[in-house]
Amino acid sequence: MSDEQCVQAADLSDSPDWECPAVSPHPARARANHTVLAWTALAPERSRVQEFTCACTAVYYELIAHSGAYLIHKVTQLDTPVHAFAGPWPHAEARRWWSLLIVGDAR
Ligand SMILES: [Zn+2]
Repeated sequence: MSDEQCVQAADLSDSPDWECPAVSPHPARARANHTVLAWTALAPERSRVQEFTCACTAVYYELIAHSGAYLIHKVTQLDTPVHAFAGPWPHAEARRWWSLLIVGDAR
């Protein structure tokens, strides 16, 4: 991932004061007519992280697997981080939402 992409990501939202490690994707800015996912604070008991977006932004996301299904985990990096979860979905559907989230068509 190039420095250019990181600078772009830093412009998306307020960033914490540390450098971008530049190894993970940065979600695009949400489009005006993006799909709003149904977020809940209810965390699955155990999950495995499959994918994650760069944590250099104030909000980052993880695609997580839990008990044969998949969810998206949203982390808002405040002094006390706020966690939200969307899903669960079957694998293909979760991948679809993950892709839409990355390109800014879902949040
Ligand atoms: Zn970054």
